[in-house]
Amino acid sequence: MYSNSLTELDRAHLIHPVASYRSHEKHGVRVLASAKGATVTDASGKQLIDGFAGLWCVNAGYGHESIVEAAARQMRELPYATAYFGLGSEPAIRLAGELADRAPGDLNHVYFTLGGSDAIDTTIRFIRYYWNARGRPERDQFISVEQGYHGSSTVGAGLTALPAFHAGFGLPFDWQHKIPSHYAYRNPVGDDPQAIIDASLAALKSKVETIGPERVAAFYAEPIQGSGGVLVPPKGWVKAMREFCREHDILFVADEVITGFGRTGPLFACSEEGIVPDLLTTAKGLTSGYVPMGAVLMSDHVYETIAEGAGAAAVGHGYTYSAHPVSAAVGLEVLKLYESGLLDNGVRAGARLMEGLEGLRDHPLVGDVRGRGMLAAVELVVDKVNKTPLPASAEPARRIFDRAWENGLIIRAFGNGVLGYAPPLCCTETEIDAIVERTRMTLDETLEDPDVR
Ligand code: PMP
Repeated sequence: MYSNSLTELDRAHLIHPVASYRSHEKHGVRVLASAKGATVTDASGKQLIDGFAGLWCVNAGYGHESIVEAAARQMRELPYATAYFGLGSEPAIRLAGELADRAPGDLNHVYFTLGGSDAIDTTIRFIRYYWNARGRPERDQFISVEQGYHGSSTVGAGLTALPAFHAGFGLPFDWQHKIPSHYAYRNPVGDDPQAIIDASLAALKSKVETIGPERVAAFYAEPIQGSGGVLVPPKGWVKAMREFCREHDILFVADEVITGFGRTGPLFACSEEGIVPDLLTTAKGLTSGYVPMGAVLMSDHVYETIAEGAGAAAVGHGYTYSAHPVSAAVGLEVLKLYESGLLDNGVRAGARLMEGLEGLRDHPLVGDVRGRGMLAAVELVVDKVNKTPLPASAEPARRIFDRAWENGLIIRAFGNGVLGYAPPLCCTETEIDAIVERTRMTLDETLEDPDVR
């Protein structure tokens, strides 16, 4: 399909993230060539709707000239400025201010990273520093949620609770603990919202007691679990967990790497929940994926404690590309676009997407439909009563991804047959309808496939 040389070059030299290398060598690469709006064109000229916004990141959509201009202008004027030695650049300072203005509560201090994984890493370092500064070094145990994803750095991958990120890597560390997910479709306590909240609270309480309440440093949660299969907690879950942490002097970290910047509606999903975390991580939609950048937003209290604790000493945490001026210039422009119509369009398009996907419930393979805004999932089963997943031996994710691709749609297909959706916020009604129609075609074809049933 593509020039053999590119396929061969890829096979010989490019290691792909989170891939079976042997399987990739067998199947070869699909080369993406260009994109505009919500449409991606591959190297053979095939056009596809990108129902996953790259990797849940191109929230603004592709091909915004004003973003390209902002990056080019900054590259011409000042392509790099370190934020070490008390130096800085205008876009990074302005973007920090804009984020602090819009973030919930007193999340007034911003540490820029290169993406989500190092944002998570940064929180872990700062949280250890914070407890040391408070004279409580024994508070060094971290808790997160099964099915959660908190990046792929050495320590962050241990907070991540997906087996592929642990197996063979010697993870998690013994200071990294998990409680069960709120996963409503497959929750032993059923799908009653209050029962799920109560079960999660009981699990967190019990975990804290087992570890020792004086040992727990922080609890991490995504407002909606993304990579675990788009698992939406019941309304009130995030708030209940946040309150528990406040009562027990445990820092609450909201990982908004996926949910930030309009993915579920507002700029930050935490504001929908009416909560203010102690720390908030973000990335992806921050620059809409045009250039790499992430950020940690820190509350006044955490910042002051660290600053006081350090006194005249340097807080030894930094990257060459912390607060990169080109990324920040892109971030400022992207924010402008979000606020001049894209967020509103995302809300409208998200409602249509959810309605369309809900309409697939009558399909024999559809066990569950869930989501909020432009973040959704359809979970496939071979038997709706027993909720039997598609057989793993049939590699359902690969088959479904390939079929959707043939039908002109890019979606995420999780291992056991969960389809993930995170389209760009710029999608038109026609594009949303096409996403749903192409999904139905893909499901119909999957139903006909004897290996998958
Ligand atoms: N946290 C969450 C919730 C994520 O979804 C991701 C990435 N999918 C990360 C952290 C890590 O971000 P990155 O891939 O930019 O390192």
